[in-house]
Amino acid sequence: MRTETRLLHALPNDPLTGAVSVPIHQTSTFAQEAPGVNKGFDYSRTNNPTRQALETLLAELEGGTRGIAFSSGLAAVDAVLKLLSAGDEVIAVDDIYGGTYRALHTIYNRLGITVKHVDTSDPGNVLEAITPRTRLVWLETPTNPTLKISDIKAIASITKASGALLLVDNTFCSPAAQQPLKLGADIVLHSLTKYIAGHSDVIGGGIVVKDEELGQQLRYIQNATGAVLGPQDSWLTIRGAQTLHLRYERISRNAQAVAEFLHAHPDVAGVNYPGLRSHPGHLVARSQSTAFGGVISFWLRDDRVEAAAELVKHTRLVTLAESLGGVKSLVCVPCRMTHASVPREARLAAGIQDSLVRLSIGLEHPDDLIEDLNRALAALQAPAQQKAALVP
Ligand SMILES: *Cc1c(COP(=O)(O)O)cnc(C)c1O
Repeated sequence: MRTETRLLHALPNDPLTGAVSVPIHQTSTFAQEAPGVNKGFDYSRTNNPTRQALETLLAELEGGTRGIAFSSGLAAVDAVLKLLSAGDEVIAVDDIYGGTYRALHTIYNRLGITVKHVDTSDPGNVLEAITPRTRLVWLETPTNPTLKISDIKAIASITKASGALLLVDNTFCSPAAQQPLKLGADIVLHSLTKYIAGHSDVIGGGIVVKDEELGQQLRYIQNATGAVLGPQDSWLTIRGAQTLHLRYERISRNAQAVAEFLHAHPDVAGVNYPGLRSHPGHLVARSQSTAFGGVISFWLRDDRVEAAAELVKHTRLVTLAESLGGVKSLVCVPCRMTHASVPREARLAAGIQDSLVRLSIGLEHPDDLIEDLNRALAALQAPAQQKAALVP
């Protein structure tokens, strides 16, 4: 069976009623037949049938043996970091998701875990940084917001040789396009909030592993620390995940059209999108994923944050908001929003120009998106043209 079919049939119809949609088991506890004798469920933190259905689906999506669902992407991040002990070292992609950076540097650092950031788009940098103390290598590919690509297979061979675990935060690519466990990763992590749930209506996180013992350790942490996803949100996520492949394919096609339009626009200085041949990670991205996703970033010839702020005032279809991966297109200005707390020098070093604009492309018709962006870019120029007209 092909992936799409397997995914839709991974969850059986409800054996009790025949319901074709997984029931929402909104219950905290379960009746027991005798002390300690139950139907596999005793308390909903430990296990809940609706959450378990989502966890089955997550494992299916990523080709793992166990999926584990959390109350947010960051709760999933936190659960993985709880595998570590004082003295352990993490090597992480240099432009890691801001929330993960914050957890590593303001919480886990205090608990004796050290973090080294390297540019993982060159696997040689990982090889150089890895030591016997390295317990975990943390990748995102593509990264946010500059969409850098790292070679999962090449880095997996380095972590295997040194005994470290390789984690891929696969939020941006989604399992519809890239399955890191098949490329040698040990742990895949998701903010389910983004493409998997896919409708900007729920916050959730997920982990998938292939090693059963590692799966048991993470399940233990999930139950011991308790940041579980509730039944309603599990159901919403299942509902979204069933159309993931369809959405991701269309979103990627839309994004390719928008990226090509931006690339050709005279007021755009540069575009980051792995689907463009000009992207330095294009070939690696093509070798490990089947689509390039919906996130694009670009910067302006007029490279001032004011120009980016002005641009986003003029989009009508594309909504100014943080987050990504939903059905409606969103836009943000990283240096005023998601990356406002990063010092300017560090931002520039990471390739985040002052005028950088990040788009999360949705399911609108691509021509409507292009018209919207074209109008906004034209509006940027208008004051300059009016001024020019005043010159005698
Ligand atoms: C959003 C995001 C997270 C955090 O997920 P939440 O659901 O917001 O807690 C982690 N990693 C990446 C790459 C993200 O985009």
